Amino acid sequence: MADAPLFPVTVVGSWPRSTELIRALRRKEAGEITYAEFSAMADAEVLACIRAQEEAGVDIISDGEQRRDNFYSFAVDKLTGMQLMKVSELLDYSTDRARMEEVLRALDVPSFAIKSPIVVDRIGKKQGLALDELAFMREHTDRQIKVPLPGPYMLTRSSWFEGLSDKAYPSPDDLAKDVVEILREEIIALRDQGCDFVQLDEPTLSQVVFGEETTETFMCAALPNRRDPTDELEMAVRLMNETLEGIEGIKTGVHICRGNWSKKEEVLLTGNYGPMLPYLVQMNIDQLVLECATPRAGEMEVFKEYSNEKEIGLGVVNPRTDDIEPAGQIVARVKELLQYFDADKIYLNPDCGFGTFAERNVNTHEMAAKKMQVITEAAEILRAEYA
Ligand SMILES: [Zn+2]
Repeated sequence: MADAPLFPVTVVGSWPRSTELIRALRRKEAGEITYAEFSAMADAEVLACIRAQEEAGVDIISDGEQRRDNFYSFAVDKLTGMQLMKVSELLDYSTDRARMEEVLRALDVPSFAIKSPIVVDRIGKKQGLALDELAFMREHTDRQIKVPLPGPYMLTRSSWFEGLSDKAYPSPDDLAKDVVEILREEIIALRDQGCDFVQLDEPTLSQVVFGEETTETFMCAALPNRRDPTDELEMAVRLMNETLEGIEGIKTGVHICRGNWSKKEEVLLTGNYGPMLPYLVQMNIDQLVLECATPRAGEMEVFKEYSNEKEIGLGVVNPRTDDIEPAGQIVARVKELLQYFDADKIYLNPDCGFGTFAERNVNTHEMAAKKMQVITEAAEILRAEYA
């Protein structure tokens, strides 16, 4: 990354999927076509997504997660021992179905459309989690490449479900050992095959910290029996550090946001990073990729105590809104953060992806491109001033 300009512009991962792609995805999930057949159909969409990012001036691009149903459920295509289950199907195994239904309604979670990879047997690798995605990108772009992966805490917590997973793994901690091993091997392979930046997604940590008693059932199958948030945060730090131990030669980041399943801001979680930062800085990662544009992310003064401890991937646009943030507003936000981070420690990105869940794009391809374009414009203004 030696030649990277100041304020590199990047994405968090996902890009809106087309109707045709979603249709093909459904056919794959129904078993009508194989993953390989589906993936070949997705190639053109990935190419369009690569070109859109290049044209918008994005420095470190992703494949838009076009081959994934969502940022963690795609693990079922790549691992054995997992089964894709709709949140609505998990209701049948819930100990308090009525409450869970009520929560899903209140949170505007489309339980029929959001799916989780549930562990039903010992897990193993069919193929690398994202090596096929990386190989395709390497063939079609010269830009630096970011590959998002589910973080070890997220993957463990979202896939272990009592009544379905406990025969293979008595507890989430047992499952975590295999998850860590698989992710470690994956990151090493991604590095060896030319990936520049691996981002581990841990958005469920915001449920742990900011979730009320009633908001724990979504995206996090195993949280109904919630433990002390401190235990969960410590577990997340431990699993992250076990996963990354001794790995060098690739930029690593952790992504946190407060949910990206609905355009209704009021149903998404709220709270500043204060309670989380003491744990995030203990993770042996290079960068915190954080949602910061939405007012729900709270005040930025919380970074004062942790200035320059990590790089920050600063969320400067809200992927869910239908207006384009002015470049001047982005510049002002970055200047606010320059109180706490040196210029060479700040990366610019949207708060989250533009289509975290395949069937719930939070914006259009055109708006995603425009929002990335304005981030680039802001970066150029900043580079002129701080280079
Ligand atoms: Zn996110």
